[in-house]
Order: sequence, then C-alpha cells, then structure tokens
Amino acid sequence: AKMSRKFCVGGNWKMNGNKAEIAEICKGLTAGPLDPNTEVVVGCPAPYLSYARGLLPASVGVAGQNCFKVAKGAYTGEISPAMLKDIGADWVIIGHSERRQIFNESDELIADKTAHALAEGLKVIACIGETLQERESGQTEAVVFRQTKALANVIKDWTNVVVAYEPVWAIGTGKTATPQQAQEVHAALRKWFTENVSADVAASVRIQYGGSVTAANCRELASQPDIDGFLVGGASLKPEFIQIVNARQ
Ligand code: PGA
Repeated sequence: AKMSRKFCVGGNWKMNGNKAEIAEICKGLTAGPLDPNTEVVVGCPAPYLSYARGLLPASVGVAGQNCFKVAKGAYTGEISPAMLKDIGADWVIIGHSERRQIFNESDELIADKTAHALAEGLKVIACIGETLQERESGQTEAVVFRQTKALANVIKDWTNVVVAYEPVWAIGTGKTATPQQAQEVHAALRKWFTENVSADVAASVRIQYGGSVTAANCRELASQPDIDGFLVGGASLKPEFIQIVNARQ
C-alpha cells in the first residue's frame, strides 16, 4: 500500500527570505537533482509566490502558506485561493501550528479554509499536531483526531489533501520526534481514517511528518511505513533540503 502513496516533501519557508535569498534557493532546487519519485512543493511568502514560480522548474509545486475562506471581498490583508491559483500556485498550507497559536485559528476556521481552497482547485497541506503539554498529559491522539475530524467534516474528496502531522514541540526546536514516535501517530491516524472516513482514504492519503526534519534524521523517518513525506521548515531554506527530498533514494 505504501508504494501507492507518492512520497511528498514540502518546504515551509515561513516569513523568511527576500528576492536574493529566494533566487538562491530556487537555483539550488533547479540544479537538484530531485528524486523524480518524490513530489516537491515549497511554501513561499505571498509577496514572492509569483517570483518563485517563475524561477522554479514546473515539477516543483508552489504553495501559499495561508488563505482565506472566501473568494473575494472586504477582507483587508487576506488572500484568496483564487488569487493563489491565478498567480500560478497550486498548493496552500493550511492550519500550521503557528497560524493556530499566534493567530488563534480554530479547527473550524481551518476546515472552512480547506473546504474553500479545495473547491477552488488548490491542493492543500493540512497541518495538525499536539503541543508538549498535550503530549505529556496523554492527549496526543485525542488532539490529532479532533483536528482531523474537523477537516473530515468538510472534505468530501481527499485526493488533493496531504495531512502534515507536526508535533508542536518538535517545530523549530531541534527536538525531532523519534521515528517510532512519529510512526505511532501516523499509524493511529491511518486507523482513524479507516474507522471514520474509509479504507480507501486511509490507504491513499499521504501523511507527512514535520518538526525539525534535517538531512541527518530524514532517512530513518522516511523508512517508517506510514510516513509519506515531510513538511520542512528551517532546513528548507538550506541546500540540505535536496537531501530531504531524496530521503527515499
Ligand atoms: P522546522 O519547521 O522544520 O523548522 O521544525 C517545520 C514546520 O513548521 O513546518
């Protein structure tokens, strides 16, 4: 079953980079080499999406890092999925823990954004994950199931959805989940999909791991049966991102 899920590695540049730095990153990605069996997508700050799209090979997807839940209107500062599509982005990252924590995005808002982005034809990297306190109090599964349920309430077709399991305590901390810790949650999520969505979706939906992924730790994580790729923050700004893309080679 695993081989039917194409390995998918996303870079999440967050609020980093300028034209010069983004040109450098795109140059590196263009030079590659990138495993042709891995789907690659980079989440770029909105002002540079069009610029990055123009510099990257067509095989590398470009993602917004957020979007709003409606197509247009009086929503100062927001960006619609239609706008992302219009400038050549084909993906959007939704529900990153920084959006949830710093910008107070609820499960419901994240679900509404996801439903709208999918309806507009974007592919979505939907992020979930527990905090350290939630893990330490034994709530990891309850939290990721609740977050996934909010998505499942609105998603009819999971084809264009990649789930990113990102334990909050592992993001930007250098404290990567062990391959066993990550695999345990990914397997639990797949079982949840079997019981709450369908066996087909459980077998086909790709679940990325995110949180302090590096060239040094990506291979062992990538060898876990239910880890289908990565969402990479800090290391996606560096040349080592290529090694993470190629983790399955
Ligand atoms: P990190 O970030 O790789 O820097 O931990 C991951 C993410 O936030 O997507």
